[in-house]
Amino acid sequence: MKAAVVNKDHSVGVVEKTLRALEHGEALLTMECCGVCHTDLHVKNGDFGDKTGVILGHEGIGIVKKIGPGVTSLKVGDRASVAWFYKGCGHCEYCTTGNETLCRQVVNAGYTIDGGMAEECIVSADYAVKVPDGLESAAASSVTCAGVTTYKAVKVSGIQPGKWIAIYGLGGLGNLALQYAKNVFNAKVIAIDVNDQQLEFAAQMGADLTINMLSDDAAKIIQEKVGGAHAAVVTATAKSAFNSAVDAMRAGGRIVAVGLPPESMSLNIPRLVLDGIQVVGSLVGTREDLAEAFQFAAEGKVVPKVTKRPLADINTIFHEMEQGKIKGRMVIDFTHK
Ligand SMILES: [Zn+2]
Ligand SMILES: [Zn+2]
Repeated sequence: MKAAVVNKDHSVGVVEKTLRALEHGEALLTMECCGVCHTDLHVKNGDFGDKTGVILGHEGIGIVKKIGPGVTSLKVGDRASVAWFYKGCGHCEYCTTGNETLCRQVVNAGYTIDGGMAEECIVSADYAVKVPDGLESAAASSVTCAGVTTYKAVKVSGIQPGKWIAIYGLGGLGNLALQYAKNVFNAKVIAIDVNDQQLEFAAQMGADLTINMLSDDAAKIIQEKVGGAHAAVVTATAKSAFNSAVDAMRAGGRIVAVGLPPESMSLNIPRLVLDGIQVVGSLVGTREDLAEAFQFAAEGKVVPKVTKRPLADINTIFHEMEQGKIKGRMVIDFTHK
């Protein structure tokens, strides 16, 4: 079978590979599609260490072709995911308390183990989340990463129906955060970005208030117009967005960090203490979060923007990504050869 493998020179090779036999608890998926993520770009470039030889892909959707011994959670013909959270240890304090993504022994698809950017992929059956009927595979692939990440972030923000949530950064992640906040949590959404086009799109998707941070003081406007936000989800990768979120909060507000700027944020400690502001990080989502995120997408509440591409385009896609040319998600389609 063909697979997208990281080369020593940081390019990606499309090579012929033979997978090993299934072990206890494993299943083999015939892949339908796999989204290409910014994380894949970091992995192939060696930003998280040399990963030469690994098969990329953590936004995979495939059909179960074969199950190994002991598998009871999947059967042949089921559609299931290959996500970044590929597997936890199953018995540590995180795995047993609903925080499995924090497991210190976590295995990540397309990074610590071969991923889903291939015609076939081995999964740990209990960790591959089933995709509900009515959700197209390419859309599901986007929910596997960006969707569940933003769904979980909005969930962690604790936003209540009718309350104000500020979403900083309206790119691929922010746009999905907006849809989950609006259509699942029934929140009032403030969209903040530096790009007018993204803001226009956010308004079309139902944002109640849009602010361009380049020309306006977002925190000031939010305080003036709505009395401060109850929560914020920051998907932007600029430190200024995190700092603005702190100033945009009303007392008791919670900021959820999703974007990964390399710097530290400035936190006014008296403001945190006196106004009871909370700042928390949120990383992807558990299997249960993914099942919920899939279901809301299957119900049409959230619609990821995807474009199908052939596997042969993989290096071109990374090139486009590096140039910032990509809108929505590029998804490798394995169903058309
Ligand atoms: Zn991803
Ligand atoms: Zn664990």
